[in-house]
Amino acid sequence: MAYEDILYETADGIATIWHNRPERRNAESRRLLDELDAALREAVENPDVRVIVLAAKGPHFSAGHDLKEAQESRANFTVEQRWEYEELRYFDYCMRILDCPKPTIAAVQGACVAGGFMVVNMCDLIVASEDAYFSDPVAHTMGAAAVEVLIHPWVMGLRKAKEILFTGERLTAQAALDAGMVNRVVPADALHGTAIELARRIAAAPPFTLKILKRSLNRVADIQGLRTSLQAHFDTHQLSHVTEAFKSARDAGLAAAIRSGKAAG
Ligand code: ZN
Repeated sequence: MAYEDILYETADGIATIWHNRPERRNAESRRLLDELDAALREAVENPDVRVIVLAAKGPHFSAGHDLKEAQESRANFTVEQRWEYEELRYFDYCMRILDCPKPTIAAVQGACVAGGFMVVNMCDLIVASEDAYFSDPVAHTMGAAAVEVLIHPWVMGLRKAKEILFTGERLTAQAALDAGMVNRVVPADALHGTAIELARRIAAAPPFTLKILKRSLNRVADIQGLRTSLQAHFDTHQLSHVTEAFKSARDAGLAAAIRSGKAAG
């Protein structure tokens, strides 16, 4: 399958799915998200692929959801239309990454914001370059109750999640490592090589073993309520889209949020 906003490569049992809109800081357009989901399915269905790496071209992993596109095509969505759009592209696509039967590794550099932050945290492991930072500023910029998938407390602990979501501040690669959200921090020029090396090491185990091991590990979180809690937050997030705070941010123009380098839910 031919892709435009992503780049799909396979080599030695590893599929790498690159975000490939560096000129837009890899903002997640509708097409990019659809292609990411399609590429993930392609990698799952290919018996030669054992491990999947999510990466990004350019200096930044992703600025989050494409606000320019959102302003142009979705600013006046009804509750029903927004729900349908966000349930499929933000919630379901994310859950497919989490539930992917093959191990996934995110390789993150530069900015990894809001929707991009959400996507990388659905992966099993994260490798970050020293310059990477993670943030979800949408409570401040958009009046939105975080992004659609509130994965944050599950991957960095409740207290850290509260800190970064309440303040909108950046979590540096080192702080993310300290919080246990990131597995390795490496110099920028070693990022891709480290992710591939890790993928190769994992790929040496039998695929079926990895698949059932991942199911068991994911069930540890599910037994604690992961899935129900994410679903509940999705509903809450939708409510935040019809608040006065959100509407005034929208009417002030999402472009202002784009200029300040912040992304929206
Ligand atoms: Zn939203």
